[in-house]
Amino acid sequence: MMFDVIVVGAGPVGCKTAELLGKKGIKVLVLEEHPEIGKPVQCAGLVSHRIFELSEVSKDVIVNTVNRARFYASKKNYLELKSKNDVYVIDRKKFDKELSERVKSSGVKIKTSTKFENYCKKEAFLEVKTVKDDFQTKLLIGADGPNSTVARAATLKLPNNILVGLQTTVKSNFDVDTTELWFDKKISPDFFGWVIPENENWARIGLATSRNSMEYFKRFLRMRVGTKVKCRDNVSGVIRYGLIKKSVNDHVLLVGDASSQVKPFSGGGLIYGLIGAKFAAEACMKCLEKERYDSKFLEENYDVVWKKKLSLPIRKGLIMNKLVHSFSDVQLNFLFNSIEKGKFTKLMEFMDMDLL
Ligand SMILES: Cc1cc2nc3c(=O)[nH]c(=O)nc-3n(C[C@H](O)[C@H](O)[C@H](O)COP(=O)(O)OP(=O)(O)OC[C@H]3O[C@@H](n4cnc5c(N)ncnc54)[C@H](O)[C@@H]3O)c2cc1C
Repeated sequence: MMFDVIVVGAGPVGCKTAELLGKKGIKVLVLEEHPEIGKPVQCAGLVSHRIFELSEVSKDVIVNTVNRARFYASKKNYLELKSKNDVYVIDRKKFDKELSERVKSSGVKIKTSTKFENYCKKEAFLEVKTVKDDFQTKLLIGADGPNSTVARAATLKLPNNILVGLQTTVKSNFDVDTTELWFDKKISPDFFGWVIPENENWARIGLATSRNSMEYFKRFLRMRVGTKVKCRDNVSGVIRYGLIKKSVNDHVLLVGDASSQVKPFSGGGLIYGLIGAKFAAEACMKCLEKERYDSKFLEENYDVVWKKKLSLPIRKGLIMNKLVHSFSDVQLNFLFNSIEKGKFTKLMEFMDMDLL
């Protein structure tokens, strides 16, 4: 069966891209390897106010609203920031489900339990192979996350900064409007740990690091809430960040985590990915209109276009990441002690959490 566009991955970015194309009457098919959309959750669900405008998902997905962040250099040394805009803690499963409902309403079919395996190039289209059936398409979108199989099939090289993130939701006592970010190297040697409250009694506690993540995670939990706590909703996932060299090939483009449209400082990928989805859908419309599916056309109309918007924020994030993690614990503690609390708030007021 021939499609205009096949999207691999029914995560938020694949769904948004498919919905935008479906609304324009494009013949789209979404392939998802898992039997249920939104499962497993691989996210802490902390997002800026931009999420609702970009996703068009209802505010029913909000679990909590936080407006204070504590940056810890060590257990007793932190700087606190009150953010100008509200920051939201969302129910990621509900969020993904609502996006997938929007896809279906736009007339696009999602095939679950259908893992993309490979493709082969024919004269004017691609033959797409899945575990179940084969399909034909003019364009193939890889929205299949940080270890994209589509990228591998299209011989596109992904950035090699990789972290493993672990998280659980813990019952204890928490400050309901305060997120904690822990930069202590004993908690994560090259990223950070987080505490994100859902309410006064439950919080998502996690960290990301490039090595021995389980060891660090257990130590962080022990230090922050002890060992005799109730836990639910364990999460583990990969975060890949950096500026991808090329996100297109003949008939193929990558979007979202598959294209490392991810904030290098925080590992957040929802906002950049949803921005990427809009550019991906627009590029596909141009390709179909002009009947051009070659790498050069896709590069000019997608790769260059999304990078115009996101390459500077990604580069800024890479610099911040490098700078913060270049300090030793002693240096970071010294720095935190020497910054006047009021000045920190003033400095950070100019900082946008999405770096946009
Ligand atoms: C621990 C952790 C915490 C995070 N916290 C945050 C946060 O607080 N805020 C934030 O903005 N971001 C966060 N992120 C990142 C965020 O989860 C991702 O950026 C976001 O999910 C990207 O969406 P996506 O649609 O591009 O990819 P994904 O959500 O990864 O979706 C990809 C989809 O493709 C499917 N798939 C993969 N391979 C195939 C295949 N071969 N065939 C068919 N289907 C396939 C997968 O099953 C999945 O459904 C976090 C990530 C981790 C790991």
